Amino acid sequence: MPKMLKAVVGNLVTKPATRPHPYRRREAFARARGRVIFDISRCIFCGACALRCPASAIRVNRTERELVFEPFRCIICGACVDGCRRGCAQIIPQYHSPAYTKPEETYRAPIEVKEDNQL
Ligand code: SF4
Ligand code: SF4
Repeated sequence: MPKMLKAVVGNLVTKPATRPHPYRRREAFARARGRVIFDISRCIFCGACALRCPASAIRVNRTERELVFEPFRCIICGACVDGCRRGCAQIIPQYHSPAYTKPEETYRAPIEVKEDNQL
């Protein structure tokens, strides 16, 4: 009993060993694999990233010029980053927020606005 009391008192006067995630976030380590993002302005919708993805986390629709990414399927292996010759897919040292659902991220090519100089 005195041993347990010592532990209880010790816990009361020391800081918690854990961090109140997600309210206080830890900085990512150098070279940490955080998450995958896509720079869609450079994408040519070739589908090479989707073909290489072992987790089937990427779908590419060339006709619609759309790329759908499922971050909660992604295992952050980096195969899409290595396979993209345009440098669109990148891994950044920033972690996803916890979520109750598993939302998809949809990337669409920017609409090209052609200036009409004939007016
Ligand atoms: S992100 Fe890269 S590999 Fe994937 S469709 Fe776009 S250009 Fe192709
Ligand atoms: S990092 Fe790996 S698992 Fe995640 S989207 Fe790219 S290829 Fe798929």
